[in-house]
Order: sequence, then C-alpha cells, then structure tokens
Amino acid sequence: MQARLAPEEIDKLIRALARRGYAVLGPTVRDGAVVYDEIEGAKDLPRGWTDEQEAGRYRLKPGPAGALFGYTVGPQSWKKYLHPAQVKLFEADRQDGLFRILGSPAPPARPYAFLGVRACELAAIAVQDRVFLADRFRDPVYGARRTPVFLVAVQCTQAAATCFCASMGTGPEVRGAADLTLTEIVNGEGHWFLAEAGGERGQEVLAELDRQPATEEELRRARTAVESAAAQQVRRMETAGIRDLLYQNFEHPRWDQVAARCLTCANCTMVCPTCFCTTVEDASDVTGDHAERWRRWDSCFTLTFSYIHGGSVRSSSKARYRQWLTHKLASWIDQFGSSGCVGCGRCITWCPVGIDLTEEVQAIRGTVNHGNTDA
Ligand code: SF4
Ligand code: SF4
Repeated sequence: MQARLAPEEIDKLIRALARRGYAVLGPTVRDGAVVYDEIEGAKDLPRGWTDEQEAGRYRLKPGPAGALFGYTVGPQSWKKYLHPAQVKLFEADRQDGLFRILGSPAPPARPYAFLGVRACELAAIAVQDRVFLADRFRDPVYGARRTPVFLVAVQCTQAAATCFCASMGTGPEVRGAADLTLTEIVNGEGHWFLAEAGGERGQEVLAELDRQPATEEELRRARTAVESAAAQQVRRMETAGIRDLLYQNFEHPRWDQVAARCLTCANCTMVCPTCFCTTVEDASDVTGDHAERWRRWDSCFTLTFSYIHGGSVRSSSKARYRQWLTHKLASWIDQFGSSGCVGCGRCITWCPVGIDLTEEVQAIRGTVNHGNTDA
C-alpha cells in the first residue's frame, strides 16, 4: 500500500534507521554542490536547493521552497561507499625474519542506509552488483558493504539538462529493488511525500511513521510528477544497435575530433556510478619492516592504465576516449549483459570541456553507413 507522509516524517525516518544501527548516508550541501555524507536528521538535507546542469557546468540555486530532494544528482554516487576510492587490502609486518600478513579489509563499523537514491543510481548499483558479485570473481569488499545496505529511493520529479535516463530505460521512475520508495510533491497546494515499502524491512520502518493511505488523486499526482521529469529530458541516447555501431566504427573520424578536445583528465570515470577500474599500489615504511597493499580507483584515461612491459597499449587520447565509450556502451554488454551507462549525465556535467557522450554517439551514428576508415 502507498502512504502519504508529511515532510516532518523524513526526520523520523532518518532517526528510525539510525536506531536500527545504520549509518544513514544522504544528500547534503557542501562546497557548492549536493554531495553524499552521513546525516543526522532532515536538517542536513539540501532543503530548498536545486541544481542547474549543462555540459561542463554545475550550479546550485534556490529551488522549490522547502523541498528536501529538489535536485537531480551531484558529482558523487553511492559507489563511493560500496566501492571506495581506496581500500587497504592488507598490511604485513616483518617478524623474526618473516613477513606476517595482518588482517584483511574490515567492513564498515555500521551497515549503510542510503537515503535519496535516484532511479538511475539504483540501476547503477545493479550494474555494479553484476560486476562485483555476479561475475566469476566475487569482490568481498563490495559484498560486505552491499549486502546489508538499506535503500531509500526518491523518484525524480524534475530532470537536469544532462539527464537521459528515460532513453536508457533506467528512470526517472524507480524500477529497481529498494526498501522504501519516496516521491516528494511540492507545489502551491502543499508539501508531502508518497511512500511505498519494497519489502519487509521497509514495511517495518514505514510502520513507525505517521502516515495515511494515499488517495487515488495523490497517486495520480505523484505519477504525473515523475512523468514530467521524463518529459523534461532534452538529451537522449539512441541505444538500438549501439553495440554493433561502435564495433563497426573503430576508425571513424569523430574519434580524432573528440580526442582534440579531451584532456584525458579522467573526471568522467571518477564521477561515473558504474566505472569500477582500480589499480594496486604497494608501500613500505622507511624501516622496511612494514608494508601495505592498497587498492585505488584508476581510470582507462590514464597512460599508465594500459602500461604493459615497456609501453602503454593506449598511448593516444583518441585510443583512450574510444576505449572508454566503446566499453561503456558496447563491450560492457558482451561482458556483463547490460549497458555500462545508466544515463545519469554526470560525465557530461563534470567534463571540464563539456564532452557529451550522447552527442558523440549521435555523430558516429549520423555517418555510420559512410564511415571514413582512413583515420
Ligand atoms: S571526456 Fe572530459 S572528463 Fe573525460 S577524460 Fe576527457 S576531458 Fe576529462
Ligand atoms: S557514462 Fe556518463 S551518463 Fe553514463 S552512467 Fe557513467 S557518468 Fe552517467
């Protein structure tokens, strides 16, 4: 059953999750952006803020008065918690002439509850689940964080100019599994939430909140608000035949054009909620008696990422951008059975030179039948 909640219930929801032992992580405003961090109550949410995004541009500005989730997505994704940017895999101490391995990565002290997960972000978590949990090798670091997580999804009722989830089939309506799904309605007539539990855990938490059964009219309004977020999307990705399109166009001249703009800064891979590549670094102290092995995020945009015995396989910007886009949209399908892109638009917003993957695919698609192979 879907219930109507007053906005004050969101504070109670955060406290109910904290009482259950969760570290409640949610959106908050810091350094001019909506970022994810631990929150103690509704006071920490980005109340009254919205975001304005375009290729290479992000600004916060006042949004619907009192709205707690009136933004779309910021630069961070939940990957920062489930697949942390750096993890100490183990450390070793020299004892009696032998190195002894001490410990393995510890799971977080408290399980996570994510508040404010967008539909595209749920889809991104599902993509990383396939990568880290359903492939031949299970990643214990991701598994320990992911398994107990409590997900509170919030459906989008507005889209940024960089969003294209509707064309990727990943949003703005929540389709993935969440423990609770909220829809926030703010208009001249009031401010309220629609809440729906996605399982037993969600029902138990919802039962602790003051709620009323939602009326047909409230359900209709919530549906219309989410539909309007889809209708607002000005970017789209044409996904039909995209795998073969990219495989058939390795030598398309567009790769040279985008490479002339790309700084190979790796921002796009850092903000992407599905990019998962890492490197491993070893370090020892000055005595040589203590050593550590760390896993850190890496990017296919760095020269060292494809370094093999004396040289980088992908030495040009063109090769690196082409690798990223072709993996994300084509070979990911062969590898994991789905696209590696969920249409969140982060790589467009946070690219310092405003490179837009939807535009790149369109450019390649536009000349697919006349592809120049002389590049
Ligand atoms: S596409 Fe943009 S964000 Fe990505 S590496 Fe190139 S310049 Fe950086
Ligand atoms: S490739 Fe870009 S739009 Fe697609 S999921 Fe990654 S950051 Fe989002």
